[in-house]
Amino acid sequence: MYDDGYDHAAVERRWQETWDDASAYRTPDDVEDPTYVLGMYPYPSGQLHMGHVRNYTITDAYARYRRMCGDDVLHPMGWDAFGLPAENAAKERDTNPRDWTFDCIETMKGQMESMGFGYDWDREITTCTPRYYRWNQWLFLRFLEEGLAEQRDAEVNWCPECETVLADEQVEGEAELCWRCDTPVETRELEQWFLSITEYADELVECIDELDGWPDSVRQMQRNWIGRQHGTELEFELSGPGREYGGVEAFTTRVDTIFGATFFALAPDHPIAEELAETDGAVREFIEHEADPEGDEPNGVETDLTATNPATGEELPVFVADFVLSDVGTGALMGVPGHDHRDHTFAEKMDVDIAPVIAPEPENESTDTEAPDVSERAFTDDGVLVNSGAYSGIESAEARERLTEDIDTASHHTQYRLRDWGISRQRYWGTPIPIIHCPECGTVPVPDSELPVELPEFINTTGNPLDAAEEWKRTTCPECGADAERETDTMDTFVDSSWYFLRYVSPDLEDAPFDRERANDWMPVDQYVGGIEHAVMHLLYSRFVTKTLADYEGLRHREPFTNLLAQGMVQLEGEKMSKSKGNVVSPQAIVSEYGADTARLFMMQAAQPERDFDWSEQGVQSAYTFLTRLKELVESHAAGDVETTDEAGPIAEYVESETEAAVVVASEEYDELVFNTAVREAQSLVGTLRQYREYAAVHGDTFEDALSVALRLLAPVTPHLTEELWETLGYEEFIVDAEWPGAKTDRETVERRQRLVENTREDVRQIVDVAGIDDPERIDIVVTPAWKHEALNVAIDSDAPNVISELMERDEIKRHGESAATYGQKLQENREALRETLDPDTELEALRSASWLIEREFDADVEVLAAEEASEEVAKKAEPSRPAIDIEE
Ligand SMILES: [Zn+2]
Ligand SMILES: [Zn+2]
Repeated sequence: MYDDGYDHAAVERRWQETWDDASAYRTPDDVEDPTYVLGMYPYPSGQLHMGHVRNYTITDAYARYRRMCGDDVLHPMGWDAFGLPAENAAKERDTNPRDWTFDCIETMKGQMESMGFGYDWDREITTCTPRYYRWNQWLFLRFLEEGLAEQRDAEVNWCPECETVLADEQVEGEAELCWRCDTPVETRELEQWFLSITEYADELVECIDELDGWPDSVRQMQRNWIGRQHGTELEFELSGPGREYGGVEAFTTRVDTIFGATFFALAPDHPIAEELAETDGAVREFIEHEADPEGDEPNGVETDLTATNPATGEELPVFVADFVLSDVGTGALMGVPGHDHRDHTFAEKMDVDIAPVIAPEPENESTDTEAPDVSERAFTDDGVLVNSGAYSGIESAEARERLTEDIDTASHHTQYRLRDWGISRQRYWGTPIPIIHCPECGTVPVPDSELPVELPEFINTTGNPLDAAEEWKRTTCPECGADAERETDTMDTFVDSSWYFLRYVSPDLEDAPFDRERANDWMPVDQYVGGIEHAVMHLLYSRFVTKTLADYEGLRHREPFTNLLAQGMVQLEGEKMSKSKGNVVSPQAIVSEYGADTARLFMMQAAQPERDFDWSEQGVQSAYTFLTRLKELVESHAAGDVETTDEAGPIAEYVESETEAAVVVASEEYDELVFNTAVREAQSLVGTLRQYREYAAVHGDTFEDALSVALRLLAPVTPHLTEELWETLGYEEFIVDAEWPGAKTDRETVERRQRLVENTREDVRQIVDVAGIDDPERIDIVVTPAWKHEALNVAIDSDAPNVISELMERDEIKRHGESAATYGQKLQENREALRETLDPDTELEALRSASWLIEREFDADVEVLAAEEASEEVAKKAEPSRPAIDIEE
């Protein structure tokens, strides 16, 4: 394969072994506050896929960058090893989940090593080992102790045929069939364990504002998930023919619209709706067959009840409607079609009145408030009340206060969409919940000293496996010694991942889940990277658990992840890669054909980490070609095959400034994890060096210095080859430990220089083209006179409406007479677009050092002159950042 390339397999294996022997990525326990870089640990499913490779290349490149910047870095890896897929895989293969999982881990760990990810493997954690999951059990017991865990009835999926509880993942398709026997799944109430995340709802939503290192999209998803709404709870009296239901609670954020309420609606599983279904066939039919809370259109059925509007005394029709959710709020609402889009759609469909009661704020005091036309569309903004009796003329916000005050049953209420976290799972491959059920004492926690409660041998059953583990289940009550039974539910695996980042701090600790002092020093995670699919559950649970540990275990931070990056997808022809679509590119195949460095480089240069991008064979090949050329360049230099000189001319100066430029830009982009720009900068420096070598005898020190910089700038992304070439250049320490190059300039100057050179080259091209010059003999480039640069700066700083008189106050400008007036006029006309430029001396120097590029392109003599060195005829055309160009054929 490497006829046209290099023996990447040998290079990569060599350095992986060498780093390993030297423990290059170990983080000693005694370092102070290392930079903690973390990729979301994978589920060991069998093979690393492209998503993993991208995720972990991002963290690895960033960890390497920080390390080279002189930070101590913590970059660990582990395995999210519990979960239903392992249980299913084990059943299919007639093995057990443990063996299957450890086989997968072995394979994936080997693949990670072949990618050259620099992990501290001494800190590896595997959640399915008793030494890890005993701390899940400890955590659960701490929650229980603090009143943050409780058992209560909750709905579970139940297969009547298999007589077992099913996890959500075991219920298939829209028809909701048992995955095993295709029987329609029912729901049943069973005792389940819950963690009281709702106790932290306010803090969880409020602290989102401070997470400014997180993407806005994720923050918004968390806000929506928590769904906090401030509003009013109030009662509507419901009655039907011969029946009184008394006051039924409803919640609204817009009590100011209550005069526009034209209907009342109940959730399909509201107790009154369920009662109606027993006697009302249409209601029953709707609840059982038609209601679809996920449907696009709100749907409902009218009942024979009416509701009394507590503000107006009006009787409103009552519907059972599927857009009313019983688990959000009270399961009942007042419908105000004039001022709510969904209510509007529903009212149109059900032919209910639509009335406007809020008018837009009048534009000024003399305009009257006018009720909006809401027949086609609801008006949902706040405004001024109209058609609202004594409240007409009051603004929405004030009306909400007054109505909440005035209506007898009304009170302020905050509602959340967030529910408590149900952690009970009726499956085998998870952490046993450390509870014993005693006929005498009830629910008894397993004492700390008896942890961990280890899983029994795998039982292959259609039902709850731990429930079938008769011997395991039988135990004695720790309190009274009576015969008792173990809890047979296991924990949601999100419990494992809600604190794993703390375990890396002290993975071998025997008497606590984490070393508190070290955790306080090392946490929070500085940079967390993972898929957007974890935007809510994992990231929210981790925040919740961190807060509880701060409250009860002396952790000194309340948020686990300071910065978060949600990486985009690797696609194939615009589609997500997936096994079922059969469009999967295996990272392993790329690694064996081109090497890990090529795979990493291609991934990092293809797009910003947050963006989706398409896998492209061509992109892979071009990354490989680049690395091959880089190797050739360094090796030919090391072998003395590059012609050198001791004299540092303008070209060397140019290369030096380009080297500085690359350092400045790449460092800034690495800081922001914008790897594609960082890498492009390093690649373009390599391109410059190749041109330099071809064009002239290179200045030895400049060339070697630039090579050393290019290797270091590439090292985070392509660690193996750069390590190899670093050695070729004669360095003795690892490049992974090398010092990140510094620069004496700033990005703005760099970019101005580069723009100046690029624009000037483009101007020369244009002139040659427009003037039809076949073979330019001599090209003069004349830099602006200093007075114009000064005039520009005066114009930029000036607040005067007309800058010309201000310019003419200055003698050194004024004495240029007509030229000064003309240039002043031009500045005045372009006031908005004026930008600072390099000063004339820097311009001169930048263009002189780049003149070889123009010489090379046009095969002409190029001279860069200061204004006073040139003929006045040419010099007068020069302006800041726009040198005059004179071409002779
Ligand atoms: Zn079944
Ligand atoms: Zn007991």
